[in-house]
Amino acid sequence: MNPVIPALMRRGLRGSLAALAAAGLCTAFAHETVPTPGLPPGITLPPTSEAVPPAPAWDGQAYRGGVVSVSHPLAAKAGADVLARGGNAIDAAAAIQFMLNVVEPQFSGIGGGGFMMVHLARHKRSFAIDAREKAPAAATPAQFLLSGVAPAQLFGVASTSGLSVGVPGTLAAVDLALRRWGTTRLADAIAPAAAVAENGFAINRFLAANIANDGGRTSFQPETAAVFRPGGVPLATGAVLKQPDLARTLRLIASQGPGVFYGGEIGQAIVAAQQRSRSPVAAEGAGRMTLQDLKDYRVVIREPVQVDYRGWKVTSMSPPSSGGLTVGQMLLMLQGFPIGDAARGYGFGSPATLHAMTEAMRLAFADRAVWMGDEDFVHVPKAGLLNPDYVATRAALINTSARMATPAAGNPLPYDASFSGNKATRLAADETDEHRPSHTTHYTVVDKWGNVVSYTTTIEATWGTGITVPGYGFLLNNELTDFNFTPTANAATGNPGANDVAPGKRPRSSMAPTIVFRGDKPVMAYGSPGGATIINSVLNVTLNLIDHGMSIQQAINAPRLSVTSAAGGISCEGVEAFMQPRFSIATQDALRALGHTGLGAPGSNGCLNPIGSVQGIVIDLESGRQYGGADLRREGTVIGLKPRKADGAKGSEDD
Ligand code: GLU
Repeated sequence: MNPVIPALMRRGLRGSLAALAAAGLCTAFAHETVPTPGLPPGITLPPTSEAVPPAPAWDGQAYRGGVVSVSHPLAAKAGADVLARGGNAIDAAAAIQFMLNVVEPQFSGIGGGGFMMVHLARHKRSFAIDAREKAPAAATPAQFLLSGVAPAQLFGVASTSGLSVGVPGTLAAVDLALRRWGTTRLADAIAPAAAVAENGFAINRFLAANIANDGGRTSFQPETAAVFRPGGVPLATGAVLKQPDLARTLRLIASQGPGVFYGGEIGQAIVAAQQRSRSPVAAEGAGRMTLQDLKDYRVVIREPVQVDYRGWKVTSMSPPSSGGLTVGQMLLMLQGFPIGDAARGYGFGSPATLHAMTEAMRLAFADRAVWMGDEDFVHVPKAGLLNPDYVATRAALINTSARMATPAAGNPLPYDASFSGNKATRLAADETDEHRPSHTTHYTVVDKWGNVVSYTTTIEATWGTGITVPGYGFLLNNELTDFNFTPTANAATGNPGANDVAPGKRPRSSMAPTIVFRGDKPVMAYGSPGGATIINSVLNVTLNLIDHGMSIQQAINAPRLSVTSAAGGISCEGVEAFMQPRFSIATQDALRALGHTGLGAPGSNGCLNPIGSVQGIVIDLESGRQYGGADLRREGTVIGLKPRKADGAKGSEDD
């Protein structure tokens, strides 16, 4: 499967595994090495795998001039055109984002936020641009407890009212990225998207399905209905969608710059639009954003979190996302299991592998609920959560012969030197867990110089709030619904819950744009939408690449498994023909016999739910060849570029 990785590297991996075992398994950037108290009495480590991971298979069409992997072909083309004209990965990422706003308006755009992970090849430097939406200055912890709304309706009402609109970050992030690390102007990145918005494009079956099955979100507000349900009829596959208001807005930004959004006429229109409320007490559901909130919005450059998994440095999003920490905890727990070793009963899709994955997910999600949030507001014990001794105490709870009882969160504070408070108590009681699948998009770009962008971008739910800014043609996010609806202040410590609403705070995310390194070289990059299932999609793909030796396309095609809370049951895939190899009925029965829930009746296929949409790239360590993989769960598209002679690379052996 992997003809390219030389024996030398395999020996190197064995050596590095030993070194890792001796030196500790993980690091969190921006934290010094933390002295730890060691394992508590009675805790034993899970067996250490001696199997050498095969690493990804460098299969498929190879390129050298750059690769884009995007969930829509027109947005992929916009990015590839930029690369073909000599732009870098940041330039391409900017053009893709604006085009996605036009062709996938239900998933991302200037009314939303996200996390852009960047690796700069020349500087060997990686960082994340945090464009997460912020709560306005007038936000309060109990703002979502709307009077007169039944608990079962609360989420639906709040998430389609202005109250859930966070101050958007996407435009600020793309603008900053271009100014600091791009080579093209904002107006250049916008122009192709504005043209498609004006001239129209034929909508694909995914957008048509999202209009048809929208839970009312394209009907609640007249401006949204006018675009997507003209004359009351939902647009069908192949219908040409023109968005003249959006075209005008994009051109306004191109000519006047982002100030017209963050404080100018577009900003004023946003503030007015988010006054919309679907609450019986209208004032309670109205948004609290002011023009000053827009003027005050700033993106933040964050250090990603990083764990060493079997010699590969998995680098992913730090708080305010829970994505990187939760993926990292799971990987460190699973490192003790021979996940790739079929001879020992593991291997892809075996009951032993799926059981270990499920239990690691449940343990990590228990910690996520208590410890993770916006670290500008609460202490997030990153070093403790990724400390190998702490993670070993969690992994030791995994019983290979039965599903564990619902695990509580652990206490990483004794392993976290950066916390100076009372380490015996938790910061907060357990918090409400996530609710629903929601949607977003992820794309990945590598250019001919080896710069990488791995970008997850969103307006939260599909269609966001469903509120289109009148006259401006873009949707507003409902990102603030990622906060706890019920405040979880802890009487013992006096601390608010890690993810309670507060003015200026960013809601906890699950987004996990990821880049994996070997030494200082980027080798794989990917991410996914899917609310809390994002974390598990990224875990599945990571194991597929590193432990199961799949190519990037095989790793994306393979069916995924997900659990998103400590008490939760298994959700898994297997409906579409391309999702191979299947989780067999016998495997599912074995999981049922271990006590797992969520799979339905014995003997039946319970793997029926699509999970995520992964777009990724891998780069051959030896040859530098670039490969893309995109997800058939949407209209995932890979476009690669060959080198031109003038670029000084070798000829066409990549075919
Ligand atoms: N609000 C979600 C999050 O940040 C967006 C991602 C998604 O729902 O797919 O986790």
